[in-house]
Amino acid sequence: MSEQESDANEPVEMLRMPVELDYTYSAGTSASRFLRAFAEGKLLGQRCPVDGKVYIPTRGSCPQHGVPIDGEPVEVADKGTLVTYSIVRVPSENIPLELPYVAIQVVLDGADTAMHHVLSECELEDVHMGMRLQAKWKPREEWETSVGNILYFIPIDEPDAPYDSYKEHI
Ligand SMILES: [Zn+2]
Repeated sequence: MSEQESDANEPVEMLRMPVELDYTYSAGTSASRFLRAFAEGKLLGQRCPVDGKVYIPTRGSCPQHGVPIDGEPVEVADKGTLVTYSIVRVPSENIPLELPYVAIQVVLDGADTAMHHVLSECELEDVHMGMRLQAKWKPREEWETSVGNILYFIPIDEPDAPYDSYKEHI
């Protein structure tokens, strides 16, 4: 029996099938406004007409009530409260951050929804729910229409937010 015949009887245990999808995504009216504001260092949310909650970013409609959100944009602060977090120690080829890093959910002051981001310039043992954070922006001359203008969040010297103020986001 030749080596080739022997190989033909072996089970295939692994296939490598690289898949690549290259497409252009249209941001749409709502996200475009959000991204243009980002280029000016502003964070724009929008208010749900049903319950008045401020969503950031908006998608043009309220995910809870299914109604259009088309009122005036609401500017929210670039600081807020850490509501949940996870210390990431597992590398990912798509995330160019040094390990370990802290993935966070932060509710910006003036917003009613949490956004994902990263906490830095903070010892891991000091990370905790309720801590007050401030966005660390890229240098002004590098700003684009991109959420990447905020590099990460850093702790600020303010008392922790009371638990009741952020518990609904946990
Ligand atoms: Zn709503």
